[in-house]
Amino acid sequence: MNDLLSTRIFQSRSLQMIALTALMLLVSGIRGPVRASDPRTDQEYAAETITEESSEPETDEEVRDPLASGMTNGRVSRGMHRNRVLHLTFDDGPNLQTTPAVLRHLRDAGVHATFFVVARQFDPFTANRRRKAALVKRIAEEGHTLGMHSYDHSSFTRIDDDSIREQLRRSEEVFEEVLGDRPHLFRPPFGHRNARTDRLLHQHGYTQFMWNMTGRDASARSADEVVSAFQESLRFREHTDRPGGIVLLHDTHRWTARAIPEIVAHVRARNCELLESDEELWLFSEDLQPFYQARTPGGHFARTAAFSAEELERRQTEAREAAEIYCE
Ligand SMILES: [Zn+2]
Repeated sequence: MNDLLSTRIFQSRSLQMIALTALMLLVSGIRGPVRASDPRTDQEYAAETITEESSEPETDEEVRDPLASGMTNGRVSRGMHRNRVLHLTFDDGPNLQTTPAVLRHLRDAGVHATFFVVARQFDPFTANRRRKAALVKRIAEEGHTLGMHSYDHSSFTRIDDDSIREQLRRSEEVFEEVLGDRPHLFRPPFGHRNARTDRLLHQHGYTQFMWNMTGRDASARSADEVVSAFQESLRFREHTDRPGGIVLLHDTHRWTARAIPEIVAHVRARNCELLESDEELWLFSEDLQPFYQARTPGGHFARTAAFSAEELERRQTEAREAAEIYCE
C-alpha cells in the first residue's frame, strides 16, 4: 500500500500542472446525484481494506494530492469568499472509534473534506498507532486532504521557536513515513497564532487555514446541536457579502459524525429554495483550493477570495443541474 500511495503521490507531482488545471475544472460543488445510503455498519466499513478501495477503476480523484503540495506557503486564510462555497474541515483525529463513521457519512454524502490530524496519534510505533496510520492512509485514499495540527496539540504561541521547529520536524517525519511526503496545510491547535508563529510556519512552507463557520461540536453533546449551530452559521454567512466558509468540526465526536448527513441535507434543501428564487446556490468544494491565495511580498492575510465570472458560471451550472435532480 505504501508503494501504491507513493506512486500515486509521485504521479500527482509529475502531473502537478495537469492536476492544477484539472482542479480548476474538477473542483465542483455538489458531486452529482446523492449516493444511496451505505447499509454497512461502521465496523464493517472500518474493516474494509484499502486494497479493495484501490482496485476500483481509475477516476479523476486518483491524481489528487492528499497533501496539497499545490497549496504550499500561502497567505493565512480565514475562509472569506465572495461566493457561496463551503469546505468541511475536521480537527484532532485520527480517532479509531469516530473517524471511520465520519468517513462513511462523507462518502455517502459525496462530499470531500480536509482532516487536520495530530501527528503523535498516528506515529506508528505501537500497534494502536499503526491502526491509526492505516486510517490516515484511508482518509487519503478516499479523496480527502490531510493537513497538520501539530505533533501533540501544543499551543504554538506558548512554546518557543525551537519547540515549534521540533513539533514540525517530528510531525513531518510521521507524515513522510505514513504518506510518503510532508504536509503543507496547517491548522493551529486552539486557533492560537501570532506574528512569531506565522513567521515560523511561513519559513517552513505551510499555509494556515483558520475557519469562519462551525458546528460548535466541541461543546455540543448531540447531532441536533451541531446541526443547529451549523444552520445558524450558514444563515449568518448568507447575509454577508462574503458568504463562503471554512467549517470547523472535529472527527473525534460521535455526534459530529451523525450530524454530517443532516448538515449536507440542510445545504441541499436550502439550495432547492435558492434554485426556486434563482439565486446563487451553495457549493461544497472538493478541497481548500478556492480559499488558497499565494503569498506575495507584504501579503500576509488572504483577502476575500472570489471565483472568476467564468468559473462561477461553470460551477453554478453544475450545481443547478445537481439540484434539479435532487429537488424533484
Ligand atoms: Zn484541535
